[in-house]
Amino acid sequence: MIVVMNPESSPEQIEDVKSAVIKQGYTPRPVPGTQGQWIGIIGEKPIRGRRHFESLSGVKQVVEISSPFKLASREWRQQDTIISVGDARIGGDRVVFIAGPCSVENLEQTLSVAKIVQAAGASLLRGGAYKPRTSPYSFQGLGLEGLKILRQAGDATGLPIVTEVMDTETVGLVEEYADMLQVGSRNMQNFSLLKKVGKSKKPILLKRGLAATVQETLLAAEYILNAGNEKVVLCERGVRTVSDHTRFTLDVSAIPAIQRLSHLPVIVDPSHAAGKRQSVLPLALAGVAAGAQGVMVEVHPDPAKALSDGPQQLLPDDFQNLVEQVRKVALAIGRKA
Ligand code: PEP
Ligand code: MN
Repeated sequence: MIVVMNPESSPEQIEDVKSAVIKQGYTPRPVPGTQGQWIGIIGEKPIRGRRHFESLSGVKQVVEISSPFKLASREWRQQDTIISVGDARIGGDRVVFIAGPCSVENLEQTLSVAKIVQAAGASLLRGGAYKPRTSPYSFQGLGLEGLKILRQAGDATGLPIVTEVMDTETVGLVEEYADMLQVGSRNMQNFSLLKKVGKSKKPILLKRGLAATVQETLLAAEYILNAGNEKVVLCERGVRTVSDHTRFTLDVSAIPAIQRLSHLPVIVDPSHAAGKRQSVLPLALAGVAAGAQGVMVEVHPDPAKALSDGPQQLLPDDFQNLVEQVRKVALAIGRKA
């Protein structure tokens, strides 16, 4: 519920409303972008006392937030949220590029990809040090060594780095090295992890679960916001369907749906949806045409030798071409790229 004060209400009246909220057993929260004029009330139990709050002096109206997610909703914040990661800004009318290898394999590979994607227009470098693999016999990532390599590549190029954190135990370590923490699809409903990264000061890239609805995705984001971290970027990366021609089905329709319901930025990952290189570009274009505020793709200097996701990783020239094509679509729909 949100208590909306009259624009001419006095600081004392605002304080009185806050005290009334506390007296009812709730915590008042400032609603972003309203200069303290809107007071949010969020709790585990249904919020009571609407009439009471309406009767307090200086109150214009009381608005119930109808969606199950509150802090993530457009009712909570009308304007698009823009998230800063280093010099990069994600959200609003921009389209940013996040690129890098699926896995960090060694310094030479990571550094060469970092330089290539930066030259081609990427604003962030991605790369997995801790890898969620379907098979325990697949390459599991370099762990701490991978974090160090990624940091080195980030520092060498000036690109902020985003990497996945798979469990609560390694959040502290990954935070030390990364500029943005990724919660992968397979962990979208790992509630302990969501609460833990919600305590982090670093922005979070939250990927939609393989079979998660839009509402479940936004409720997962709500866990992070509710724990105190307001810097969440969502990522559509495809969901499981009956399709056997693709790894996952990129649900482009989820992008405008999320943007209608939420103020959080939404990016698209065509690489994991496609599963194969030749489908990455068309899916990236479709995602941006549908409103995605960023594109995250996997790039490898020699995909045939990649230790994970070789078939879907782009060659350096493919990435350069993707950036050029995506920019055309972005400009055509009135975005900045
Ligand atoms: C990744 O981006 O490295 C990844 C593993 O993706 P997802 O969680 O979407 O499968
Ligand atoms: Mn991958």
